Formats: sequence, structure tokens, C-alpha cells
Amino acid sequence: MQYDVVIIGGGLVGASLAAALKDSGLSLALVEAGAYPHSNPSPAQGAGANDSLREASLDDDWDSRIYAISPGSRRFLEQSGAWSQLDKSRIAAVEEMRVFGDPNPSTMLMTGSKLEFSAYQMGVAELACILENRALQHALWQVLQQQDNLAILQPARCAALTLSDQAAELTLEDGRTLTAKLIVGADGRDSWVRNQAGISAAPVDYQQHGVVANFSCTLRHRGIAHQWFQPDGILALLPLPGNRVSMVWSVSPDRSKELLALSAEQLCAQVSAASQHTLGDMQLITPAAAFPLRLLTLPQISANRVALIGDAAHNMHPLAGQGVNTGFRDARQLAKLLIDRGGCSDCGDAQLLRRYDRKRREDIYTMQATTYGLKNLFCNDDPLLRTLRNVGLNATNQIAPLKKLLMQHALN
Ligand SMILES: Cc1cc2nc3c(=O)[nH]c(=O)nc-3n(C[C@H](O)[C@H](O)[C@H](O)COP(=O)(O)OP(=O)(O)OC[C@H]3O[C@@H](n4cnc5c(N)ncnc54)[C@H](O)[C@@H]3O)c2cc1C
Repeated sequence: MQYDVVIIGGGLVGASLAAALKDSGLSLALVEAGAYPHSNPSPAQGAGANDSLREASLDDDWDSRIYAISPGSRRFLEQSGAWSQLDKSRIAAVEEMRVFGDPNPSTMLMTGSKLEFSAYQMGVAELACILENRALQHALWQVLQQQDNLAILQPARCAALTLSDQAAELTLEDGRTLTAKLIVGADGRDSWVRNQAGISAAPVDYQQHGVVANFSCTLRHRGIAHQWFQPDGILALLPLPGNRVSMVWSVSPDRSKELLALSAEQLCAQVSAASQHTLGDMQLITPAAAFPLRLLTLPQISANRVALIGDAAHNMHPLAGQGVNTGFRDARQLAKLLIDRGGCSDCGDAQLLRRYDRKRREDIYTMQATTYGLKNLFCNDDPLLRTLRNVGLNATNQIAPLKKLLMQHALN
């Protein structure tokens, strides 16, 4: 089995690369350990997982893994044909974003500091689209299944990878062997390919878990994404179709355990209080689940005959909703270099891979540094920092060009 490119990992990012290369003339193989379409690896599940929630929400079968997809990622998914496979009635547009700093110390209301962005101010139709992980996985896999230049091997597990100057040889656990000019590691945060290529760095544990769940609310969200930066965590409520919202609450591991142990009613009461009852009363519609958060910055994202994309190449805090978007930008860049490689017939050429590495560096570091900085600035009790961050947030809100600059990167 000889291919130009073998992609290991068929999650959102790996699948998006395979789809983007459908008319490239390259022969591709996709090796996926799981049986797709499936949802993300099982997180720890909590509140509502085994109480009356299941019966109460049978008609409300929403995935608690939700992504804010940037307009740039949307265009990328449109080009490959994946976007048109999505059920539009399950997608919500974010027309406005409201970010709140610390509460006002005298009233304890979230009127202390605020930063607002709107699609209108930015001159775009929407700031992001909110959609479900499994719906997007399914849409991408629909495209892959009709792709002539792609062999899908799944479920298949990798056993060994030999990298030489001429080619890469991948052996699967069932004994099959694949040779390729280029191996793409799209196998997620604990990437096997990354290890095999000898690329490593120590991850920084954020000491936080992202607790996710979906709710229905008595007040309308009006297409507004809300985010509250609080010393003990960062709470985001993203609009879903109808009067539903999706939560990502980044809190300490202990607090995350506490939240997962609550009943559905108790969790709703706590989320409602932490969000200052902005959306009225809340009702849980999917069980809560938690994901550990970490930062991983690699010294390089390519090696001899290997390129890394998505979470295999970088891990970042979800506070800016940029993890998978950054991964799509990796896939977009790599696909572009492979398609436009001109006279170079070798798609695993060392120079091409160095160019990929160089072109992706700035975007990845900017996103990682921004999310790391914001998390540390806000999840901190120091009174001086408290004052500085609130003054900063309000000042940024007043300076239109600065706001535009901040947002432009996230729209890509
Ligand atoms: C709480 C939380 C909220 C988030 N919210 C957002 C958001 O709103 N917007 C956003 O942009 N990002 C968000 N992210 C980040 C986003 O979830 C990840 O960046 C994204 O899922 C990474 O996709 P991926 O395809 O690179 O990796 P994965 O989704 O991990 O896919 C990897 C795939 O590789 C397969 N695999 C693994 N090992 C092997 C192997 N050895 N052989 C073959 N196959 C293998 C796996 O089965 C899997 O299918 C969030 C993250 C968290 C934790």
C-alpha cells in the first residue's frame, strides 16, 4: 500500500485535511483508531448523567461538545463541501460577544468591567457559528466517504513508524504496512506520531478542567455569546439554536469534581448565579462533562517526513474557542502547500515541511500566548492585577481600532 500522504487520526482536523485534498491528485490514506462517526473520547460525565434528565430531554438530543467555528474555518469547510452537509437548523450564529471582568466590589454585580464585540462593528455577518462536534464529524466523514483518492483504514491501530530520507513506513497492529512520502500526525493531544517523530515538550497543566453542558433558558440569548472572567474560573455561555446555550466553565479540578457531582437542578442554580441570571432560569438538557486543560507548545511541528496538525501540534486554553480553529488553519496551510508545491514532486520534501512549520509558528504562538496570558491575568486574586485588568478591559472597549485588531485574528 503506497500513498503520497498518510493521515493518522480522523478527528475534525485530520478529516478536514483529507477533505481539503480531495482534488489534489495526491493518493491519500486515513488511519483512524476509532469507529467513526463517533463523538470525542468519553470525558468524565457528571451532573444529570443518571437522573431524570435523560427522560426529560429525549427530544433534545444535543452534543455537549460544541465548537465556536470562526468565519475563516467556515470558508475552509465550505470549500471542501463539508459545510453543505450540515443541518443548518442546528447551527447558531454569534452576532455579539460580551466579556465581563471582575464584579463591582461594592455591588458584586458584573458591572465592573466589560468588553463588547459585534459582527456589525466588524463588518461581518457573524463572529462565529456554534455547532456540535458530532454533526461536524459526520459532515466531514460524508465527504471522505465519497472521495476517490482516499483509502480509509478504520478502526486501525498503529504499531511502528520508520522514517527515512526517502519515505515513511507505517506498520499497523494487524500487520498491514503502508509507505508514504508524508505522514501527517492528526492524532490528538497525546499524539503517537509526535512521539515517533521525536518531537516533545513538557506540557503546562492549567490546573483547570473545562466543564461542558447544554441548557435551555427562560430568556432569549439573542445571538450573544457571554463570558465571565472570575478569579475562580472562566464561564462562557454560547448561543445554540432556539433558547438553548452551551456552557464551558473552566474551573479548578476540585471545583470541577464538585460541579459534576451536583444534581441537574443544583448545577442550573450555580450556573445561573455565576452568570448573574443573565439568561433567566436554566434547565439542563445534556449531562455535564469535564476535560482537563493544558498548554503544549512544541519547538517544531514538522520532522523528517512528518507534519503535525491540530491538537497533536498544539494544546491551548479553550477560553478563546480557538483550539479546533487553529487546527483547521494548520490543515488549510498544509493543504495549500501540498497543492501549490509547483515543481517539487515530493510531498514530504524537507523544504516544504520547513515552510509549513515557519508559516504556522506565528499564529500558534499568538493564540497560545494570548489565552495563557488572559487565563493568568484573570484567574488571580492579586488586588493590583484586579485593578489593572478591569481598567484594561474597559479601556480596550473604548478603543475601536484595538478591538478590531484583537478580533481580526479570531475571525480567520
Ligand atoms: C472544554 C473544551 C472546549 C473547547 N471548545 C472549543 C471551541 O469552542 N472552539 C475551538 O476551536 N476549539 C475548542 N476546543 C478545542 C478542541 O476540542 C480541539 O482543539 C479539537 O478537538 C482537536 O481536534 P483534533 O482533530 O486535532 O484532535 P482529536 O479531536 O483529539 O482527534 C484525534 C483523532 O485521532 C484518533 N487517534 C488518536 N490516536 C490515534 C492513533 N495512534 N492512530 C489512529 N488514530 C488515532 C482519535 O481516535 C481521534 O479521532 C475545546 C476544548 C475543550 C477541552
